[in-house]
Amino acid sequence: MTSTQFRALWLEFHERVRVERDQLNRLDAAIGDADHGTNLDRGLQKVAACAADTTDHLAATCRQVGTVLLSTVGGASGALWGSALLRAAGALPDSDTCDTAAALAALGQGVSAIQARGHAELGDKTMLDVWLPSLEDLDRRLSAGAACGEAVAATAGRAAVLAQDTAPLQARRGRAAYLGPRSVGHVDPGSVSTALFWQALATVLARS
Ligand SMILES: [Mg+2]
Repeated sequence: MTSTQFRALWLEFHERVRVERDQLNRLDAAIGDADHGTNLDRGLQKVAACAADTTDHLAATCRQVGTVLLSTVGGASGALWGSALLRAAGALPDSDTCDTAAALAALGQGVSAIQARGHAELGDKTMLDVWLPSLEDLDRRLSAGAACGEAVAATAGRAAVLAQDTAPLQARRGRAAYLGPRSVGHVDPGSVSTALFWQALATVLARS
């Protein structure tokens, strides 16, 4: 991945969140406080504005995106995305490009940071219910010899299914956990926005 692609990824992710903003708010209204789409859209708008006028290398850009999301998204999502990116930046090189292995390592580090920060596990009805199996899915496809772009596209499709699969789960972390059994039957909004991230990544990789 190049730093130009990395910046394009955040513009693409913002575009997808902007389009789905009201839907993400509706999902959050069912089990949270109805602001997931608005919060993420606001943070990514700021990221897009910053990304447009930076020429920084991968690690610095990743750190910048993390800092902006941490300070503008607010709530649990801001802390989780911010921590993920700040940790991922440590796995990226101080240069304009990285290979697939480094990009995967950065993704893995980011997801570890989300796990550490949110104290959530698989099945808790959080974004990790998309992140963890998606990473495994991507790893499996790449190990089987798939080309990077094709593998990410397939994983993005899987991520969308995984997001919908959070509906029958009972929330055990975050605001939704207060609802107990009443959280069952609603899709987790953070899982849906995570799937949008995977789709954005697939779109950007397909362009080059
Ligand atoms: Mg919320």
